[in-house]
Amino acid sequence: MLTTPNTTHEVLNQVPPLENRNLFEDHPALQEALEREGGGWARERLRAAGAFWGGEPMRWGVEANEHPPVLHTHDRFGHRRDEVEFHPAWHALMQAGVEQELHALPWRTDQPGAHVARAATYVCSGQAEAGFGCPITMTFAAVPALRTQPDLAAEWVPRLTAATYDPELKPAAEKASALCGMAMTEKQGGSDVRANTTRALAGDDGWWELTGHKWFCSAPMCDLFLVLAQTDDGVTCFALPRVLPDGSRNAGFQLQRLKDKLGNRSNASSEVEFRGALARLVGEPGRGVPTIIEMVNHTRLDCVIGTAAGMRAAVAQATWHAAHRSTFGKRLAEQPLMVNVLADLAIESEAATAVALRLARAYDEAPGDPGADAFKRLATAVAKYHVCKRAPGHAFEALECLGGNGYVEASGMPRLYREAPLASIWEGSGNVMALDVLRALARSPEAFDAFFAEIDEAAGADPRLDAFAAATRAEFGDVEALEPRARRVVERMALCLQGSLLVRHAPPAVADAFCAARLEGDAGLHYGTLPPGADAAAIVARHTPATA
Ligand SMILES: Cc1cc2nc3c(=O)[nH]c(=O)nc-3n(C[C@H](O)[C@H](O)[C@H](O)COP(=O)(O)OP(=O)(O)OC[C@H]3O[C@@H](n4cnc5c(N)ncnc54)[C@H](O)[C@@H]3O)c2cc1C
Repeated sequence: MLTTPNTTHEVLNQVPPLENRNLFEDHPALQEALEREGGGWARERLRAAGAFWGGEPMRWGVEANEHPPVLHTHDRFGHRRDEVEFHPAWHALMQAGVEQELHALPWRTDQPGAHVARAATYVCSGQAEAGFGCPITMTFAAVPALRTQPDLAAEWVPRLTAATYDPELKPAAEKASALCGMAMTEKQGGSDVRANTTRALAGDDGWWELTGHKWFCSAPMCDLFLVLAQTDDGVTCFALPRVLPDGSRNAGFQLQRLKDKLGNRSNASSEVEFRGALARLVGEPGRGVPTIIEMVNHTRLDCVIGTAAGMRAAVAQATWHAAHRSTFGKRLAEQPLMVNVLADLAIESEAATAVALRLARAYDEAPGDPGADAFKRLATAVAKYHVCKRAPGHAFEALECLGGNGYVEASGMPRLYREAPLASIWEGSGNVMALDVLRALARSPEAFDAFFAEIDEAAGADPRLDAFAAATRAEFGDVEALEPRARRVVERMALCLQGSLLVRHAPPAVADAFCAARLEGDAGLHYGTLPPGADAAAIVARHTPATA
């Protein structure tokens, strides 16, 4: 008798899942940067963090996106509620983030290199999920701004820096820990915050009443928000709590709706109306922008670090896939053209990682070192512009390495791709960042010297870098006509910085390919156009997750 097979086919040539890995130990560029930039003392901590974020949090990231936050404007009786409900996976990510001090490490220790150690941890956590990084980053970044107002700092900083997670809306006095968001952007404009229309009127008890709206206010379940509003003296910074000291809700803070976003879907971004919302002054009236700028700069630092995390996640998936998938009789990782693509993606990821941790070191050193402070001012804007802008194309090309599988949600690549443009838009979109570099140069000419002193650390090591840096300096000869050239100039500055770091510190294969493709111009418009002579196989081997 003939028997009919009860299966239609065997599953062949599919790639094993990339899971339960150590995101630190399988990332040599990150390990080396941690040591180099002053975070070596945190090595063991990072090993533990790498193993942690490469395990269960990977699933939490998926779940938190599959079950996005839900806004409840009112309760069933019609009373205002203004609460956002999150999936347990979101809370698990948040709890782990604060317990690992992602939101506060440099504020909790005097250990030199704390920014670097935090940045390396963030590169691990950001590979599990990017969305929860938003309230983590804003809480981290709010602390330097709040410190300009000692009474508020005394009340809030110990809570914002506590390593416990308490998502309940309660008055500060009843909370051991708290989270902080920011609300600057309004309907009529986010870049030009001096055009804000929200009004603040002083009461006689130290509280101000805010009336207006904010068009983007992410993580609206935070306990506190730094807000910009107009006073008679101009744009002023305020601290607005969700719950007032007497335990009542700050009823004038009313959530209108949540944004239906391209990506970043685990995180809630709201529109909010202020109808006499109560807030306290931070800094001097009329000095709102300089007061909040320290918060803004720290969020920009995290945009760079978070982008390095996303790029690493993309490269890990692409190289892993290529190591296990065969076409035309050979593994993809043995097909010369695919090796070129993977190597090109890998040098972009390594350059982003090197800059992110170098920048973090500048934040460690800046308080006691004017040169580091000047470098930090310029390098933050330069790196935010360039690194973040490279992310969407990078994510797409990594996705394509997986072929059709990469276009399918379960691969994780669509999530990376949708997230990729955000860091470039948020906290200073591309043009605004490029113009910010020009502003920094005009106001702090010493920043130019500090920046190029860092480039010159590699002087003489590679003629391509020397020539590129000299030509970049020459771009500043015609200062009058800089504005329309701002993107061009800032991109070149970023490439100088990346080139200088890689020439000094990366393996020769990585530095050589970077200089040839990005500085000498011996490459095409797309990834995978590294010139002949690049040791692409060595680069790919360095960036392929070791888990086999
Ligand atoms: C997911 C998400 C979350 C966010 N969360 C928050 C939040 O929590 N709090 C908050 O305050 N904001 C938040 N934002 C807002 C964000 O910071 C702003 O969208 C951003 O700063 C740009 O402002 P805008 O959207 O008003 O664009 P605009 O200011 O209108 O700019 C539009 C474009 O014009 C360019 N541009 C602006 N000025 C110039 C110029 N002088 N020359 C040349 N080009 C120029 C910009 O680069 C940009 O490309 C969030 C945004 C997103 C997408």
